[in-house]
Amino acid sequence: MADRLDGTVALVTGASSGIGAAAALALSAEGAAVALAARRTDRLTDLAARIAVAGGDAIVLETDVTDEAQARQAVERTVDELGRLDTLVNNAGVMLLGPAVDAPLSEWERMVSINLMGLLYCAHAALPHLLEAAGKQPRRVADMVNISSVAGRVARNGSAVYNATKHAVGAFSEALRQEVTGRFVRISLVEPGATATELASHNRPEVRTTIQQRFEGVERLSAEDIADNIAYIVTRPRHVAVNEMLVRPTQQT
Ligand code: NDP
Repeated sequence: MADRLDGTVALVTGASSGIGAAAALALSAEGAAVALAARRTDRLTDLAARIAVAGGDAIVLETDVTDEAQARQAVERTVDELGRLDTLVNNAGVMLLGPAVDAPLSEWERMVSINLMGLLYCAHAALPHLLEAAGKQPRRVADMVNISSVAGRVARNGSAVYNATKHAVGAFSEALRQEVTGRFVRISLVEPGATATELASHNRPEVRTTIQQRFEGVERLSAEDIADNIAYIVTRPRHVAVNEMLVRPTQQT
């Protein structure tokens, strides 16, 4: 049986597109007030307006998660303006693929700083608030949902540093889960397969072509499919923790 999220507050990073935007809508539909964090505030403002029209509550937080102070401020503003923090969806990420040999180092640095350090900064700032919310009504449980990838489970030629960042997210999540789960803060890992979003568009043209060829003919997941998984995880009753969810398109090998 699902618990609705009425009276709770969720912060979603990378809420300006793809999985993050869909997750914010899904959590709002379950009754959560949502804080929307990313760099593109025009997108966040549009999303907040959609949420308001549907009867929900949303705030816009211009945030670059690679800046520790901005990540912390996103968490603090969520608590100041919405009153508490029950759910953190650590979703912001980039996937810059291609051979490691002669890869631009700047791409590796971007992935480490967004996928790993950004997620850690948000987690660090959020944990005291999640621990506090876990003791409070209406749910007496709190959630951190970390978005990894199939790439966090299976390493592939051409994905070395993306694999490294997502494996790191998995390791961090499991160790943290063991540390805080006894205090009713659930740490969950979602590992999507190929999902139709803007993610691949940030790659160099030759890499985009390789990605397109790899998934030719595969009916991809939608951002809403993954948002549905996230909403499922955070609406479980307090005694049920979905630790990990690996979700591929049916045709993805
Ligand atoms: P999108 O490119 O659509 O979304 C990425 C989001 O991350 C955007 O909202 C972007 O917002 C945000 N972001 C990027 N850099 C920063 C930053 N420095 N600070 C704050 N926000 C940032 O891709 P997806 O929705 O697909 O990706 C979401 C997550 O899902 C990622 O972690 C990705 O690795 C993971 N994933 C995606 C898969 C897929 O096939 N699509 C498969 C497996 C995992 P803005 O640019 O406005 O800051």
